[in-house]
Amino acid sequence: MFDIPGDARIYVAGHRGLVGSAIVRRLAREGFTNLLTTGREEVDLRNQAEVEAWFAAARPEYVFLVAGTVGGILANSTRPAEFLYDNLMIHATVVHAAWRTGVRRLLYLGSSCIYPRLTAQPMREEQLLTGPLEPTNEPYAVAKIAGIRLCQAYRRQYGCDFISAMPTNLYGPGDNFDLASSHVLPALIRRFHEAQAAGASEVVVWGTGAPRREFLHVDDLADACLFLMRRYDGAEHLNVGTGEEVTIRELAEAVRDAVAPGLAIRFDPEKPDGMPRKLLDVSRLHALGWRHTIGLREGIATTYAWLRDALARGEPVRGFAVPPAAG
Ligand code: GDP
Repeated sequence: MFDIPGDARIYVAGHRGLVGSAIVRRLAREGFTNLLTTGREEVDLRNQAEVEAWFAAARPEYVFLVAGTVGGILANSTRPAEFLYDNLMIHATVVHAAWRTGVRRLLYLGSSCIYPRLTAQPMREEQLLTGPLEPTNEPYAVAKIAGIRLCQAYRRQYGCDFISAMPTNLYGPGDNFDLASSHVLPALIRRFHEAQAAGASEVVVWGTGAPRREFLHVDDLADACLFLMRRYDGAEHLNVGTGEEVTIRELAEAVRDAVAPGLAIRFDPEKPDGMPRKLLDVSRLHALGWRHTIGLREGIATTYAWLRDALARGEPVRGFAVPPAAG
């Protein structure tokens, strides 16, 4: 057990993203008073000098490293240089600065796409680096794997208390709804929302509908991150997920039922399916005593309610340029 004092200096790197904003909400709810964040305009996390200068001045004691350039299957395959460079640099600068300034604990967040494309399912932690990666997200996966190894190397060589967690596909309030760069769940919410508004009779969903994915609500992930920061002390990265999977077809039906009941679903097999199956083995996390609490249908409903509210109030939503009229 690591007792994190209520006034500990806690840095959330990437606080504007889906994950970072959920972690900030979770830490605030827990009563932590000394939360540190940096905006892009203030510190470019890809720049070692800027990051080290900020760490030297701000002196964080605990770091949630959840910053990165992220995106869905299309963004990953069309912007490989950004995905590789940005993520490699961000992980390296922050881990290095954390070591240099004596950060007590750092939690680094990866992604389930680190595992080989055709690996046994559900995927256990030790299946990392046992086969070729899925080509549609290889640049991102390579950077994320380097981040895990970086934390392990700093632990081994310098005795740093740096741990890693690999979440499954995430969704929730604050997600990116831009169809060119989003993941499937927010994309489907948006497609059904707009189809309904336009009076359309069907929605087109990419791929065959056959791939299987696991989805974790980001509030559950934030809870798991705090749990691990307090409880987990190991070099091995830990999987964080629900251990439950659905096909893309089932997901599309669940989103349809929540957003636009009655609409038809048509699949476009010209679009890539990506990994055939992606399910984490979460037995280690369960053995530590953590389980998710938000079911998929409930999570879709609350995420859609959040989106509708945000659009109605004219609040910025990633992917929506101009908020449409309320309703
Ligand atoms: P992945 O888990 O890394 O493959 O990332 P995605 O969330 O982008 O895609 C998951 C699956 O959903 C893939 O099989 C996609 O082809 C499928 N999919 C269906 N419709 C969409 C969509 O509108 N956007 C995205 N990003 N994926 C979609």
